[in-house]
Amino acid sequence: MLFLLTSPFPASAVPRADSIQFQRSIVDYRSQLNPRFKKIKRQKTQYIIVHTAELGGQTTLRVVSRGKRFRSGRGTHGGHAHYVIARNGRTYRILDKQYVADHAGISMWDGNTDISRLSIGIELVGYHYAPIADAQYRSLGLLLDILQDAYGLDDRAVLTHSQVAYGFPNRWHRKNHRGRKRCAKNFNRAKAGLGSTWRYDPDVRAGRLVADRQLAAVYYSPKNFVAEAEETNVISKQNTAWVIAGEDFDSTETVYKFPDGRIYTGDQIAASVGWDRLPAKTVVLLNQESSVEQLKDDGPVKTIADGVTAWSLAGRSYNRETTIYFLPSGRIKTGSAIDDWDDLPVQTQLIIGYKGPFELRKDQSAYRIAGKGYKDPQTIYYLPSRQLVRGDHIKDFTQLQLGTLVFIPDV
Ligand SMILES: [Zn+2]
Repeated sequence: MLFLLTSPFPASAVPRADSIQFQRSIVDYRSQLNPRFKKIKRQKTQYIIVHTAELGGQTTLRVVSRGKRFRSGRGTHGGHAHYVIARNGRTYRILDKQYVADHAGISMWDGNTDISRLSIGIELVGYHYAPIADAQYRSLGLLLDILQDAYGLDDRAVLTHSQVAYGFPNRWHRKNHRGRKRCAKNFNRAKAGLGSTWRYDPDVRAGRLVADRQLAAVYYSPKNFVAEAEETNVISKQNTAWVIAGEDFDSTETVYKFPDGRIYTGDQIAASVGWDRLPAKTVVLLNQESSVEQLKDDGPVKTIADGVTAWSLAGRSYNRETTIYFLPSGRIKTGSAIDDWDDLPVQTQLIIGYKGPFELRKDQSAYRIAGKGYKDPQTIYYLPSRQLVRGDHIKDFTQLQLGTLVFIPDV
C-alpha cells in the first residue's frame, strides 16, 4: 500500500487553467531580436537548458536579443535564448522556439555535441552565486511543463548550461573538460517541479571529458549538496577564479575588484598580478562589458548602472536594513523595504552598512550627529538638492541647509 502515500498524479501535472494563464502572460519580445540573427529551424529537440544570465533584467533582455558588445568593438548577433525569466517571474519570449538559439556554445551531453542545435535555452535573470527567486521557479515550472509536453521530454532532459558546457585544454586542464561554464549551478531542480535526474555525467563516465571537481560535487554527489548557501563570487582558497568564472576567468568582461579597491579585468591579471597572487576577498564580476568605469568608484556611495546591479554592489547585504538606497525619484529606501535587487532603476545610489537618516536641525548639528567623524569620507550627507556628498567633500559646514540628512557608518 506504500504507493498510496505518494501523489497519484505525475509530478508535472499543472492545473490547465494555470498553464493557459501563464502562456498568455508571456511577453512577446521577438520584435527586439537583432535583424542580423539568422533563423534556422531546429531539426530535433532533446534537451532544455537552464542558464543564469549573470546580469540584471534590462541588460539580460538586451544582450539575449541584440547580442553581446565587446570592448574590442565586436559583438554577437543576439538570439542567445528562447525565453528569459525575470526576478519577478515575468517571462519573455525572445525567439520562436522552433529556431536554433545560440545559447550553449561548446557543449556535449551523452555524446551529443553542439547542444544549441538540439535544445531550448531559458535564461534566468540573476547570478550563479546568488539565490534564484521563488517567482522565477514558479514561472520556470510552468514553462518547463509546457515545453516538455510539446516535445515529449522527461525531467532528465532538463539540464543546466554548466552541466553540458565543456572546454578545450587550458592552463587548468590538459584534456577536454567540464567547468567551462558555471551557469545555473545554483539551480534547484525540485523547486522547479523536476523529479528524476542524472546521477552521473555520461561524458565523463565514457571518458570523453574530464570532470570538474566542484561541479561534480554540485550535481552528482550522493549527499544532497545544497549549492546556493555556499556560493559566492569572492575569491578564497577553495573559490578560485576558475571556480567562479570558468573559462571567462581571463576575459576582458570579467572584473576583479580587490579588497583595497583596485580593479582589473581578467586579461590584465596574468601580467599585472599573477593568477596565484589574487588576494583573498577579491570580488569577481562577470559580463561587465561596459561598466568597468562605474566599478572603479570605490568610495562609499555606489551607483546602479547598466550591468551593475544592487547584487553586484552589495551582494547578500542588498536587503539589509543598513543598506540604504537613494532612488532617482528622490525616495529613500532601506534594503529591507525592497522586494528584490533587480527592482531598482539605473542611477539609484546606495550606501552599505549605514544608519540614519539623522536630520540637520537648528538644535542638531553635524557634529552632534556624527561626532568627530562629521567630516570623514565615510559620513554621508544627502542634501535637499538630492545630492549625496561625503563629509570630506563639504567645504563649509555652516552652509549646509537644515533638512540635510546625515548617514553614519553602522559599526
Ligand atoms: Zn549559460
